[in-house]
Amino acid sequence: MWNGAHTAAMATITPIHRPTIFCTFGFTITAIKLPLRRRKWKPRQIAVSSARLTQPNTFLSVSLSNLGPNDEHPQLLPNTSEEDFVVVNFYHFVFIEDPEAEVAKHLYFTRDLDIHGRVYLNEQGINAQYSGPSKHARAYANWLREDPRFSDILVQVSPAINGHAFPKLKLRYKPSLVQLEGDFSHLPLLDPSKRATPLTPSEWRERLETMNSNRDTNYILLDIRNGYEWDIGHFQGAQRPTVDSFRCTSFGLSETKDAASDPLANVDKEKTKVLMYCTGGIRCDVYSTILRERGFQNLYTLKGGVSNYLKDEGSEQWVGNLFVFDSRLSLPPSAYNPEAGSCRTPQLSANNAFARCYICTSQVSLLRHRNCANLDCNLLFLCCKECVSELRGCCCSECTSSPRLRPVLPGPQRYQKWHIYRDFQQEQPT
Ligand SMILES: [Zn+2]
Ligand SMILES: [Zn+2]
Repeated sequence: MWNGAHTAAMATITPIHRPTIFCTFGFTITAIKLPLRRRKWKPRQIAVSSARLTQPNTFLSVSLSNLGPNDEHPQLLPNTSEEDFVVVNFYHFVFIEDPEAEVAKHLYFTRDLDIHGRVYLNEQGINAQYSGPSKHARAYANWLREDPRFSDILVQVSPAINGHAFPKLKLRYKPSLVQLEGDFSHLPLLDPSKRATPLTPSEWRERLETMNSNRDTNYILLDIRNGYEWDIGHFQGAQRPTVDSFRCTSFGLSETKDAASDPLANVDKEKTKVLMYCTGGIRCDVYSTILRERGFQNLYTLKGGVSNYLKDEGSEQWVGNLFVFDSRLSLPPSAYNPEAGSCRTPQLSANNAFARCYICTSQVSLLRHRNCANLDCNLLFLCCKECVSELRGCCCSECTSSPRLRPVLPGPQRYQKWHIYRDFQQEQPT
């Protein structure tokens, strides 16, 4: 009989007709329950961390623990099993002498890993967002950290909602690590002194508390993201950015810019303290080097961005959800920090754009964008329940009569490829 004395037993899973565990002490289990999720069976060594007899002598429920080679960074993945899908984000500015060779090395290492996402490398470093079973996702990040050039990267992990958060893996050379108009290969990204001063999440919270209680008015809080990201969540006191794409961000760059749309217009570049933030930190690091070149002296950024802040500080000083650039689109603070309290919704004034339906401007309860059901429009917009049902998931009435109309998405998933809807329609009797 299996009991507590055997809970650290070694076992090998063999891919035969039905998963079977052969244990070192001669016990064979022919039916097991495993959190497999889209993985193929491969023979492998596992550690049986606990076992429970659910039906006398016939059925055992076994939970597994990771025996992989990468347990030196367990803090990467709190409360996830190796089969749970996670999303990993990291970036690092470092000189890479031969980026094409580096790409080849990464492609070789990841060839058998089940990871999907965007990994871009160039002479200035790496920028990566990808999803996968946590064992695979962690293996890649840990492999990278074994290289001294990348040993201190901040790897951020969050739970995936429904398997992969990206359709496939794109791992390649890219001339620019972030989308920003113009050629920035000349920017001194590799020199930390040319960027904003990074603040830890707790230092950031203290500054915001000071700023928001009007104890120091010499601050400007700059949301460096897109307007639609601000619409579902932002730091208290941050103005809605007047940009629809970070690529076009030009805060503080033009002498003649309209002060109403540019929070950095007419500020004292030497005295004003600019607190800038973005999702994961990379946009601020890049943009702050541009602002430094333009004479801004007191630039501060949030280390690791909002995602790192929510993990460490919860939803203090934060309002709403965090927009993310993968199929999840929106994450509550509790995704990063289960202890985080429910997010506060501010008192909305009539001209406050936060959490407003794009169509009728009423307040939305679900802080999550959707794509227009018209494939040829595909606009990402925030929409109330009533407008979703009235316009069948479209952004406007014109889109409802489009030839490539997809069915309304019922929940927080993304649309599938068009041919799936097209083929389905063609199979329907006319
Ligand atoms: Zn509406
Ligand atoms: Zn549309």
